[in-house]
Amino acid sequence: MIVILSKGISVHDKGMIRAFLEERGFSLREQTLGDDEIIGAAGKAALDIQELTLLPGVERVAATSKPFELASRETKSGDSIVTVGPVKIGGSRISIIAGPCAVESQEQILETAERVRESGAVILRGGAFKPRTSPYAFQGLGMKGLEYMKTAGEKLSMPIVTEVVSPEWAAQMKDLTDMFQIGARNMQNFELLKKVGALGKPVLLKRGPSATIEEWLLSAEYLLASGTRDVVLCERGIRTFETYTRNTLDISAIPVIKRLSHLPVIVDPSHAVGIRNMVSSAGLAAIAAGADGLTVEVHPRPDAALSDGPQSLYPSQFERLMRDIEALAPVVGKELLRTPRAGTKLTSGVETPVSAEGTLPLSDKIAFSGESGAYAEQALMRAFGEDAPRLACSSFSGLFDAVLEGSAGFGVVPVENSLAGSIHENYDLFLRYPDIAIVGELKLRIVHCLIAHETAALDTIKVVRSHSQGFAQCKDFLDKYPWRLESCYNTAAAVASILKESELERPTIAAIAGEAAARAHGLTVIKEGIETNPLNYTRFVIISRKNNGDIAPAPPSMGSGKPNKASLVFSVSDKPGSLITCLKIMSDRGINMIKLESRPIQGQPWRYLFYVDVSLPKADGEFDFVLEELKTKTEDFHFLGAYRGAL
Ligand code: PEP
Ligand code: MN
Repeated sequence: MIVILSKGISVHDKGMIRAFLEERGFSLREQTLGDDEIIGAAGKAALDIQELTLLPGVERVAATSKPFELASRETKSGDSIVTVGPVKIGGSRISIIAGPCAVESQEQILETAERVRESGAVILRGGAFKPRTSPYAFQGLGMKGLEYMKTAGEKLSMPIVTEVVSPEWAAQMKDLTDMFQIGARNMQNFELLKKVGALGKPVLLKRGPSATIEEWLLSAEYLLASGTRDVVLCERGIRTFETYTRNTLDISAIPVIKRLSHLPVIVDPSHAVGIRNMVSSAGLAAIAAGADGLTVEVHPRPDAALSDGPQSLYPSQFERLMRDIEALAPVVGKELLRTPRAGTKLTSGVETPVSAEGTLPLSDKIAFSGESGAYAEQALMRAFGEDAPRLACSSFSGLFDAVLEGSAGFGVVPVENSLAGSIHENYDLFLRYPDIAIVGELKLRIVHCLIAHETAALDTIKVVRSHSQGFAQCKDFLDKYPWRLESCYNTAAAVASILKESELERPTIAAIAGEAAARAHGLTVIKEGIETNPLNYTRFVIISRKNNGDIAPAPPSMGSGKPNKASLVFSVSDKPGSLITCLKIMSDRGINMIKLESRPIQGQPWRYLFYVDVSLPKADGEFDFVLEELKTKTEDFHFLGAYRGAL
């Protein structure tokens, strides 16, 4: 049984709770679980739970129906987010761990770390102590290997995870690693679990090759009960009768764990299938099934690897896998977490100075438009984390003002929907705010719901409120009903407006918005997924204020490596061929244009501005020439920013 204590409980009240339980023969253990302080009570004595719940300082009592308690979702309903150095695992992010099976030399681990980081891995893996089936196989470099790994991790600002195989080594390894891995073969080595758990560091717990899910969760329970609060589960294939793959990846373990436990679960497709060309498919399947991340073996020269070469990806295969995960992430409502980039030099002479730790510049608040539960707020959480401090703005221009004045360090602005097209108001704002730059981009899958008060039903509704884009995206559904449509400035505001109506009116009003908006305002989802086409995505850009005229800091965790996309706006003179001249400047230098849109110039009838998005070339400097040339051939030229584009 777990007693969750109220925040800021007094010493006296805690003492009373302890005494109450001890008098009844329970043995107690105090610890933290996520943000909560708890008392774990073990024993068989009968107890009046109601009486315990009423004691001052008791927030909640969780008497679970499962043999695992700390790991159970009955104890903690929200998802636990595990922190490993600057990296978070769980919630709405996908975190990828990559590296070689074993550390083989300083050069090998450094080279692999550089390659996997460049592709977007956020944690470096590598075994220094290798549990091998054969006593004659390479056993790892031991503590020396761990030192090599630490050096590589520090050099590239990546936390590291490495396997601990015996309780004797655990304490010595503690200061060198950021996360311990308990390997599949040791999942039920209870002395090891107790020892490692007591060290308090994050632990990656592999599933044993023949362990049931319950046994696996009980091993997690050992770790949590021994003192660590950060456990990530890792499915890595179980032993079945099948022999074509090394093990059988138990994909269904992911949704089962999600239902049973609040702990993050990742998948190791490398050890699961054991064959290089099948690793990526298995990894993508795991992400599609809801895994919070992957751990993948990558080696710069797999054929020369001292262990697990046949299942290690070439860096180019890993790069491809990361791109596929990035494309898949919005489908499952997640965002691929990337290593914060450090002081990248951009083309066009714009610098993005962000510290390696990814600390936020200016105000730490992030502005979004709309009310709690808005899609923009979801996009914000994807880009900056669930607990990012935020500033809700009631209009898009208010959001630009907040970023310009510095009351928000960044803003999250929708610019385009895959079904309904550009959000022109925001494109136009970039021209009114020349000191604001685009510094990042992300794509959010939009699943619209019909939301109403619990007293409403499809046949009581007369009016539906939403943003005009919401109506456009749900046209086929709305065409079936005779409802009056009322436009609001934001989908979440439409949801909030229902509660301002009288009780009599409430059953007659519905709103179209995301499920999060229904949750935020305590309303009911009458129908989910009412958008005409499920391939419905909104592209958001992250904006920031330029410092010293041209320096705009990039948001942390919005893409590693160089910017690969830029946005510009220009007008051209009113004569034949002036637009084609500008487009030719780009094509002559091999610049791929990904979007071209014209907008009327305010106050100048029948004259237009051209909005252009381009892919940036790999070669530094090439784009600078294009910008210089374009400036000479256009009439009004604005560079909106260079950033890491979402796929
Ligand atoms: C490993 O990750 O290097 C490893 C040995 O994995 P497992 O314990 O899953 O076999
Ligand atoms: Mn391995």
